[in-house]
Amino acid sequence: MTCQLKNFDLEELICDFCSGGPIYKSYPARDFSVVTGREVDSVSKGDWAACKACAELIDQEKWDELADRTLAALPQGCPSDPAVKDALYSFVKSLHSRFREHRLPVQ
Ligand SMILES: [Zn+2]
Repeated sequence: MTCQLKNFDLEELICDFCSGGPIYKSYPARDFSVVTGREVDSVSKGDWAACKACAELIDQEKWDELADRTLAALPQGCPSDPAVKDALYSFVKSLHSRFREHRLPVQ
């Protein structure tokens, strides 16, 4: 099944890194799969959108700080259980690494 966004505008988009907004910058990227170990892996399609705070971290290649920001922005907050927090942090770092591998030059 394929889902497509229709009739969206920039103000409705959220940051792909922290789910905040407004969107400040878009990073072109090739599609890639996200290996999760589950039966159905997630797939990243196209560009990644970033708010200004996340874009600054990306442009300065502050990937650890970006991962911290992503975890802190989780709706339920950063997990207090160290094992859960470590697993989530590893997943976020892996996801951001895959994003870096598939980034395309800004035209
Ligand atoms: Zn953000």
